[in-house]
Amino acid sequence: MDPFEDTLRRLREAFASGRTRPAEFRAAQLEGLGRFLRDNRQLLLDALAQDLHKATQLDSAFIRKEPFGLVLIIAPWNYPLNLTLVPLVGAIAAGNCVVLKPSEISKSMEKVLAEVLPRYLDQGCFAVVLGGPAETAQLLEHRFDHVFFTGSPCVGKIVMAAAAKHLTPVTLELGGKNPCYVDDDCDPQTVANRVAWFRYFNAGQTCVAPDYVLCSPETRERLLPALQNAIARFYGDDPQRSPNLGHIISQKHFKRLQGLLGCGRVAIGGQSDESERYIAPTVLVDVQETEPVMQEEIFGPILPLVSVRSLDEAIDFINRREKPLALYAFSNSSQVVQRVLAQTSSGGFCGNDGFMHMTLASLPFGGVGNSGMGRYHGKFSFDTFSHHRACLLRSPGMEKINDLRYPPYSLRNLRV
Ligand code: NAD
Repeated sequence: MDPFEDTLRRLREAFASGRTRPAEFRAAQLEGLGRFLRDNRQLLLDALAQDLHKATQLDSAFIRKEPFGLVLIIAPWNYPLNLTLVPLVGAIAAGNCVVLKPSEISKSMEKVLAEVLPRYLDQGCFAVVLGGPAETAQLLEHRFDHVFFTGSPCVGKIVMAAAAKHLTPVTLELGGKNPCYVDDDCDPQTVANRVAWFRYFNAGQTCVAPDYVLCSPETRERLLPALQNAIARFYGDDPQRSPNLGHIISQKHFKRLQGLLGCGRVAIGGQSDESERYIAPTVLVDVQETEPVMQEEIFGPILPLVSVRSLDEAIDFINRREKPLALYAFSNSSQVVQRVLAQTSSGGFCGNDGFMHMTLASLPFGGVGNSGMGRYHGKFSFDTFSHHRACLLRSPGMEKINDLRYPPYSLRNLRV
């Protein structure tokens, strides 16, 4: 019998019910905490073996943002320049030395970063190292002061476990399956344009791309011709020849995606050509939750449309799965968009569009739960790569003020 199981289940159920979210609830609980301290003052005083008391009016208190020291940045292949340099900017701005490990899969960029980038930086402070999983595992045996990893949740766990051996803090920018809810109350062509654009951008090899659409069977029927229309407009009659459609990074990923084309029924696209690692912009329908396309992150130009009967069912579908990096909701009704936002959790959220939220430097970018921890972009990058050191400077004089905090305490009326 697990002594914690009941308690944890009860608290999870309470959280899922939304009870802790209203501002009034939070205020009432904090007020209760205040009452606890006031009502039990003597009890608490008695329970404290030692006490602290501070008179800080004459002190200077401040946060000093300091560089961690030596930082390791590990990057993926899908945006091999952006996802290497954007974290690097934050690490340099915060004053760290950096070891940069680009992805071995985007070979050409790896070569440029290793051979050319160091010429532009102080090589005494910044190094580019090369390697795949084995070399990265070896690198992770060393002690770093912070590790910033972008990649899959599965490798994220390996990185975090390695960092834990040194108690090194980590930022994990991971992936997963990003849901996209499409309400009945919408203009199908507008939605199809936006969804097709951000699903097929970079051939779907984007961590924040919508992984699947949740909609009613009726909306599905309206979306299909609209998606067909958007795909034809963006990529022409023969998308394989389109200069605007990316191809799949490697043979391994091509094979994996080709396998996913066998799930459900192909409604649009479905063609592939191994010699060019080409997969057509594809829409699948009638997929089962148990099929691989609904189990793993797709990371390619394939979009399953999953039928739900109501908004409640869509929210439940989302909440039964790992917390995604991004979540999208399309509706003419702002109440519907607000409901999806309020009743789910995700790294980021965008209403009525795709991944625009991650283009703003004023917003933090990062995951939650299985999609990662920590955040960056803009000023958040600087903060991520800085230790927030809490400091207080006190005058060496005015010792009388400190008398209150020194023992013996029994005769004094102390504040806790
Ligand atoms: P990956 O996890 O396979 O590899 C990422 C990095 O980890 C690479 O540099 C690789 O060399 C290294 N690596 C791979 N296996 C390792 C191991 N066993 N031990 C140590 N290091 C290892 O990811 P990927 O295939 O390069 O990228 C795709 C994944 O990244 C997707 O899941 C995608 O969603 C995610 N991603 C997330 C973001 C984000 O910002 N959150 C951005 C891009 C990609």
